[in-house]
Amino acid sequence: MKTRKILLTEKEIPEKWYNVIADMPNKPLPPLHPGTKEPIGPDALAPLFPMELIKQEVTTDKWVEIPDEVRNIYSLWRPTPLYRAYGLEKALDTPAKIYYKYEGTSPSGSHKPNTAVPQAYYNMKEGVKRITTETGAGQWGSALSFACNHFGLDCEVYMVRLSYDHKPYRKTMMNTWGAKVFPSPSDATEAGRKILAQDPNTTGSLGIAISEAIERAATNEDTKYALGSVLNHVKLHQTIVGQEAIKQMEKAGDMPDIVIAPFGGGSNFAGLSFPFLRLNFEEGRNIRCIASEPTSCPKLTRGVFRYDFGDTVGMTPLLPMYTLGHNFVPAPIHAGGLRYHGAGVIVSQLLRDKLIEAVAHDNLEVFEAGVLFARSEGIVPAPEATHGIATAIAEAKKCKEEGVSKTILFNLCGHGNFDMKAYEDYFAGKIVKHEITKEEIEASLAQLDTPEIN
Ligand SMILES: *Cc1c(COP(=O)(O)O)cnc(C)c1O
Repeated sequence: MKTRKILLTEKEIPEKWYNVIADMPNKPLPPLHPGTKEPIGPDALAPLFPMELIKQEVTTDKWVEIPDEVRNIYSLWRPTPLYRAYGLEKALDTPAKIYYKYEGTSPSGSHKPNTAVPQAYYNMKEGVKRITTETGAGQWGSALSFACNHFGLDCEVYMVRLSYDHKPYRKTMMNTWGAKVFPSPSDATEAGRKILAQDPNTTGSLGIAISEAIERAATNEDTKYALGSVLNHVKLHQTIVGQEAIKQMEKAGDMPDIVIAPFGGGSNFAGLSFPFLRLNFEEGRNIRCIASEPTSCPKLTRGVFRYDFGDTVGMTPLLPMYTLGHNFVPAPIHAGGLRYHGAGVIVSQLLRDKLIEAVAHDNLEVFEAGVLFARSEGIVPAPEATHGIATAIAEAKKCKEEGVSKTILFNLCGHGNFDMKAYEDYFAGKIVKHEITKEEIEASLAQLDTPEIN
């Protein structure tokens, strides 16, 4: 029998997170104060995050110890399996060898608990009683609800009204872990009440939900805020994925030429690819790392590198990143986790320095890829994950055309078991090719009055 699933034991869960900043030739530029436009120090983040996470946000240490309590909970679902995609290879009739790391085995069904667990842990250690957050599609809210429940913290989730109405089972899942879920905008905050007064029937947005969650944390002593992507400490926590994958590829007697992951704010891409980038830095290897984004939200392939806000309202520090402009509202594609206007600062600097690559796929292409994957490998992928699959398929087809065999590894960052509406729409022919126009991008970028980067 051929080995399909490459497994590790619980003892092989990594003991440290890897910080790619230590190896970067050009370090990320500093965040700026939204008012003064001067660089801000870590203290500015103290009202929102516990000290240990702020330290991790700015550290240049190459390795950060994972607490035993965290590894202990990781062991509920980690190490995650790495699969050889024999079925997909056969369907594509490609000489390429395709592998995928599967993060859908976590309790909430994606890679997000990899950071939700340590974030809840450090908050608990520092005496915090409640964590607030926003959620769009519900993956992050579910992961944080699970983690808070484990450490005995209250969890408050502001869920974009549209998703709250359309994805009731994600809400119920959060309730099952004891979280309070508010449709955003809500009447629990000043920001929410103001928007409801203007438009009682608004469908909400991630920007509004962030404002609500931040307001609750900033105005309550015992409450902090948590973010599931974009920030450096989130990427740091996700690097357990790539570290496990390296061990598994070694076990398989192979090493990828190409590493691929879908891209929203950059956390699952960072998680899989940064440990492989380490091999490029340390051993002079040439592993290509490719981020896959939707053509309807193409900040990496068509955005600009400059300072911009992380939220729509303009409350966060200014971050140096690839962006489409903080006012950019992406089309309502089903891959809700990829509908973000910007990219994390580390990934942005790496792309600018050409140490990683980016590609974009349209909405129809990714569903075709997702269904082909489900039919050849069995697992129904999350709509976000289908973007990475589409890139892997494109690279495997290139191998066939060129008659070369390469080894491809991609991140299957979550299952799509709560996303049947998306697949239903695809089968009903409602998913259409969507690409934003040059004019739309220019119009959004024209509104930016934030500092440019030379
Ligand atoms: C949140 C999410 C994403 C996008 O976020 P990243 O930080 O870019 O990883 C992608 N896939 C799934 C399944 C998600 O839940």
